Parts: sequence; structure tokens; C-alpha cells
Amino acid sequence: MLHGLMMQTPLLISSLITHAERFHPDAQIVSRRVEGDIHRTTYRETHARARRLANALQALHVSRGDRVATLAWNGYRHFELYFAVSGSGAVLHTLNPRLHPEQLAWIVNHAEDKVVCFDLSFLPIVEAIAPLCPTVKTWVAMADKGRMPANTKAQLACYEDLLEQHSERFAWPEFDENLASSLCYTSGTTGNPKGVLYSHRSTVLHTLAAALPDALNLSARDVILPVVPMFHVNAWGLPYVAPMVGAKLVFPGGQLDGKSLYGLFETENVTVSAGVPTVWQGLLAHTESNNLKFSTMNRTVIGGSACPPAMLRQFQDKYGVQVLHAWGMTEMSPLGTVGTLKSKHLTMGHEQQLAVQYKQGRSVFGVDMKIVGDDGRDLPWDGTAFGDLLVRGPWIVREYFKGEGGNPLRVDDAGLQWFPTGDVATIDADGYMQITDRSKDVIKSGGEWISSIEIENIAVSHPAVAMAACIAIRHPKWDERPLLVVMKKPGVELGKDEMLRHYEGKIAKWQIPDDVAFVESIPLGATGKMLKAKLREQFKNYTLPNP
Ligand code: ADP
Repeated sequence: MLHGLMMQTPLLISSLITHAERFHPDAQIVSRRVEGDIHRTTYRETHARARRLANALQALHVSRGDRVATLAWNGYRHFELYFAVSGSGAVLHTLNPRLHPEQLAWIVNHAEDKVVCFDLSFLPIVEAIAPLCPTVKTWVAMADKGRMPANTKAQLACYEDLLEQHSERFAWPEFDENLASSLCYTSGTTGNPKGVLYSHRSTVLHTLAAALPDALNLSARDVILPVVPMFHVNAWGLPYVAPMVGAKLVFPGGQLDGKSLYGLFETENVTVSAGVPTVWQGLLAHTESNNLKFSTMNRTVIGGSACPPAMLRQFQDKYGVQVLHAWGMTEMSPLGTVGTLKSKHLTMGHEQQLAVQYKQGRSVFGVDMKIVGDDGRDLPWDGTAFGDLLVRGPWIVREYFKGEGGNPLRVDDAGLQWFPTGDVATIDADGYMQITDRSKDVIKSGGEWISSIEIENIAVSHPAVAMAACIAIRHPKWDERPLLVVMKKPGVELGKDEMLRHYEGKIAKWQIPDDVAFVESIPLGATGKMLKAKLREQFKNYTLPNP
């Protein structure tokens, strides 16, 4: 055996902020605070405050491996916690404030969080769950001294007070890069939520890969506004990528409506953003009705659920904003694929290029993938055969926190371990993956599968449709048939017949939904995705016409 003779410097999260301070000290971090105002800081200042915070955490008896939770919007204090907690060897646990308080308490107890830092707007949640969370020794309000709530049932520490009391003299410790850095629970649409425990190594490798030109293509010339929350798989890694490349960061706080976002895009010269399709729907509704254009934004990452082709086309053709359609999941840190073109596509026609972009994209180096049939055998990469999508790589989960749910991995004939994503997909000869469906959402009609995503994409391409979900309804002959649930745009007329006529010529006749149900609203989950499980429950006694 002959070892290489290169340095063994561990891949640590603290190195990202150290690097940013050294090479991009004046790059700005701009936040819309829950207090309502705009706050400005720099990487230099952020690094200093993160070091103060690291000292404060020590004073709160937070040791290596202890969990420190956050209940916060995207903002500079949350950003400081990302580095102070992980950098000092503790584990940053980002809680999703949109979850039901009972579910939050369950997660806090499962994670055994020792400290919880929260935005003042979440005080009611803290008051509700504090008595249920015995492991939490300190609740820290992320606020100035002058804004601490006067009458509260909970015993609170003040974030700014803690920072003031502690020195910025702190040396980030060096330790094994395989130690845990952060923890994120999956939404638990089936069973209890499961914790995905990232390591410093997995995070830094993911960060390097995410910045690549054919991934998110981020640089020191970018102004990044992550709409995706920092409690949703670490805002898809952007809070780590930004300091690594020295980009300016803009945090929108809790105001994610189209008007507020558009304002920030324009005033801060944002070049790139990222979020789920439902957020972009709000933004595009605002720009459409006010006849607005983007002055500086030139691309946006859309993922978390399928980006409807109509949205991709609108962003690119009307607004000149390139869409990066990306796919991933909590278990994958989250980045798996991004849809960027190859040089051979550049000479193709516009429509052909769009057809490539509609897919979820090619694997980012580090993520290996394959599709397999029910028998576990590999399926061909022909863009047609579809099967279970399996992945492997250094930022993909091996086991859930505390072994929840047992061993999630599958071993193939070659002895390699793979993580089954729960998604059904095709892969074409160029390696572009397309999600057909989540395996639990696919509609199984007479032995054939109907992609709920495809049905929804066609529905939202109708100008009167605001949102659409397609779910399976039991059928005596075909097992399942598709029902289309539609939320119309306000003040427009749309009937069932017109909706169904919109499908003619776009898909095979037998794939067209059997019926359309118009609803006031479609339930959204904690990460802004349509809650199909809830819809299925809502329509469980529904009978289709002429079964
Ligand atoms: P959850 O939705 O359970 O909170 P995640 O946020 O980790 O969990 O979501 C991961 C899932 O979201 C993927 O397995 C996939 O089904 C779906 N998803 C993510 N990105 C896309 C995309 N671009 N197109 C279609 N589905 C996507």
C-alpha cells in the first residue's frame, strides 16, 4: 500500500466562514428582519458574531454533539447560528415552524435539543411547546434587548445579550470531518418524522458540488436570495455555498409574498434565487398583474416539486430568467440533479431545448443513480423505461438518526449500497432524469401507470388554473382512475368540460382524468408542497361519474 502524501486537512463547516472573511470580508448579508426593517452586515462581521456566539454556547454548556435547534426565518442571526453551532462541534437542528406544535415537540424531544433559538414571531409556538420539551435547557429569543417580550410564560435568554457578554476571541476547533454538523427531519408524510444527520464532510462536499457551473453556477459576482427556508434542507445548501464563493446574500425573512420578494430582488440587485414552484406562482402573479420585469435576476432554481413547463417557459421566454430545474431530497442534502444543457443542445431549436429543461436534470458529480424494476434489476437509460430511482454518494443518508425506520438501504448484485428515493423516474441516453411521480402518488390504472405530475403540469398550463393536484380514486374495473382537483384563479370562469378538453391531443385518452373537482384551496405542507395525502383523505368517499 502506498498512501498519497498530501495534507489531511479535515473538511469543516467553519472553514467556509473563515474563507469568506479572509477573501470577501466586505461582501454583504442583507436581511429583512421579522422586526420589519432591512439589516445589513458583512462576512467579516458575521464571522466575529459567530465566534461570540460560539463562546456563548459554551457558557450555556453546549458540548460537542449536543443539538442546538433553530425556529427561524432566513436572516442574518440564523446564518450566524449555522456557523457558530456546527463550527464549534455542536449540531444545528433546523426546526420547521410551519409544523403543528405537537409535531414540533415530538421532534425536539426525539432530537433531545438542548438549546432552541427562535425568531420573536414564533414566541406563541415556544410558549406552547416549552412545557412539553424537558431536554431544552435554554430558549433564546433572537432579538435585541429592547425587544424582549415582557409578559411571557417561557423563561427566555436574549440573543443579543448573549453576544454582548462574550468575546469574539474563539478559535474554531479542528476535529474529524465525519462528526455530525446538522440535523434535519423529513416531513414524515408516512410515519414519524425521520432525522437526517449531516456531517461536516458531507456538507462541505455538497457545497463544492452545488457551486459547479452545471449545478447552481454560483460565484463572487452573484447576489443570492434563497427563498427556500433555512429550515428546509438548509435552504438547499445556499447558506454554505454563498460564503464559499463570496456571494452577496439577501435573506427575505418571513415575507415571502410576490410583492415583498419582487421588491428585494430589485433593490438588492439579486441575480439568482431558489424556491419551490408555489412560491414562484405568487411572484409571477405579482409581476403579471403589475406588468413588471426583473432588472438583474437572470436565473432561478426551482425544485422541491416538479416545475410545471408553463412556469419554466414563462420565466425564460417572458422574463429572460433562466430556470434551473433541480431535484433532490432531505436525505440527499438535498442536491441530486440539475437541468442544464450540454453543448450539443445549443444548436437545437428552442422547443427541443425546453424539452430537455423540463426534465429534472443530470446528476451532480458525487451522486450516482440508477432506475430499477420491481425485480431490482437495472432498467435501460432510454428515456422511456421507468422504475424506482436509487442513489448513492457521500452526501446521501446511510441511516436515520437513532436508527429510526431500520436500515433504509438496498444492496445490489455487485454488493453496492443504494438509497431508494421513493421516486419513480426515467433516465435518457444523455443521463437526464425525469421524475414520473412519487411512488405513492402514481395512479395505477388497469396495469398502466399515469403520472400525476404530467396531469398537473397540463392543468396549470391552462390560463384559468392557479393550482392543480391529481389523485387516484378507487375504480371497480381499472383499480384507480385520476381525479383532477383544481383551484381556479380568482374571478375566472372554468368548467369541467373545458378543463378536460384542454387535455385533448396532449396525452393518451385513457390518461385524461375521469373528473374534475373545483376547490377553494389546495392544502400545502410545511415545505410549500401540495399535500396529496390530505386531498386523498378529503376525497376518500368520492365516486367517479360512470364508474
Ligand atoms: P418532503 O417532501 O417529504 O418534505 P423533501 O423535501 O426531502 O421531503 O422532498 C423530496 C421529494 O420531493 C423528492 O423525493 C421528490 O418526490 C420531490 N421533488 C423534489 N424536487 C423535485 C422536482 N424537481 N420534481 C419533482 N419532484 C421533486
